[in-house]
Amino acid sequence: MPTAGKVIKCKGQLQMFSKLSPFVVFYQIKTVHFGWINMVLCANSLIGCWIRAAAVAWEAGKPLSMEEVEVAPPQAMEVRVKILFTSLCHTDVYFWEAKTPVFPRIFGHEAGGIVESVGEGVTDVAPGDHVLPVFTGECKECAHCKSAESNMCDLLRINTDRGVMIGDGKSRFSINGKPIYHFVGTSTFSEYTVMHVGCVAKINPEAPLDKVCVLSCGISTGLGASINVAKPPKGSTVAVFGLGAVGLAAAEGARIAGASRIIGVDLNPNRFEEARKFGCTEFVNPKDHSKPVQEVLAEMTNGGVDRSVECTGNINAMIQAFECVHDGWGVAVLVGVPHKDAEFKTHPMNFLNERTLKGTFFGNFKPRTDLPNVVELYMKKELELEKFITHTVPFSEINKAFDLMAKGEGIRCIIRMDH
Ligand SMILES: [Zn+2]
Ligand SMILES: [Zn+2]
Repeated sequence: MPTAGKVIKCKGQLQMFSKLSPFVVFYQIKTVHFGWINMVLCANSLIGCWIRAAAVAWEAGKPLSMEEVEVAPPQAMEVRVKILFTSLCHTDVYFWEAKTPVFPRIFGHEAGGIVESVGEGVTDVAPGDHVLPVFTGECKECAHCKSAESNMCDLLRINTDRGVMIGDGKSRFSINGKPIYHFVGTSTFSEYTVMHVGCVAKINPEAPLDKVCVLSCGISTGLGASINVAKPPKGSTVAVFGLGAVGLAAAEGARIAGASRIIGVDLNPNRFEEARKFGCTEFVNPKDHSKPVQEVLAEMTNGGVDRSVECTGNINAMIQAFECVHDGWGVAVLVGVPHKDAEFKTHPMNFLNERTLKGTFFGNFKPRTDLPNVVELYMKKELELEKFITHTVPFSEINKAFDLMAKGEGIRCIIRMDH
């Protein structure tokens, strides 16, 4: 049972609610890894606004600014989550740099947190549950969610242009009444955030959130591309194009699946040594060869690799990743997001000779159904996450994470919200 306690940092409207409503109960719960967490429970479903720190992007490309942001209560089918750890992904940086009209905005989509309160109709999660936010949801009702073959939910599929909640078209963040917009339904660069319940995956409370938070996006994307889509047979040869976080996760997936040769392809030789930790056994730098990389790979592998996973989004690399697979059985999987004007050109004989080309989104994982199982892979020590985490910064220094990514240093930088 929760112990009655004092909410240390709450301000503003929450206190006002407590005066208005005799049904508001403050309490603390003890969690496995993070000690006592302050919670609020309202018998009449009125849950107050929190005013908490968030890193706000006021305009494209400008450093984030720490602000006191009002976080409104969760509405129907929404949850409010206390974020404990978050990490920076390229997609945050891409849209932070982009001159879209959706500013001011709170970015962030890889994270781990604890449900603080839930809105009407939410039955799948409850306050105190440990969750991973997911930028693409799973409503469990639409044709995609009901299909065993798809994870592209009609209702909650990623939408980078929408800055508001789908329920009422409003933002749950504000400063002095002025809305601050959401990002991909998660906005985890905030001590508290509000999400649709379909965008949170409930996980094992024993799992350390400072590690498994990286499974919200990039690492699951690369891992799933290998284990769910490429499915390399034991003893097979896999080429991974692009050795960033997603590519290294694809290599890790190939390693877990039992591939015996994993060939990393990247233009940056500095990445090769690091990639060995993720199962890469050989490397090809296309700059070191005068002939096309698909020919280099065919020579190294007696006709072509069994599987390839493309994680750069460069259109030429995508074509190479397809053409380097062995005829008769080779499968290429596209993960990287190409330029909007890109066109994929290859001779149709490559298909007739029984090469298969596939694409994947979020590694084909259904976020709410499958992420808890990916967390268990880590708990069983089959999946190693520590090696992806190269830096940690306190929340107040979140801009350092952006600097590290701009310099191409490290793989994942964890941002600790408790500092
Ligand atoms: Zn759905
Ligand atoms: Zn991401």
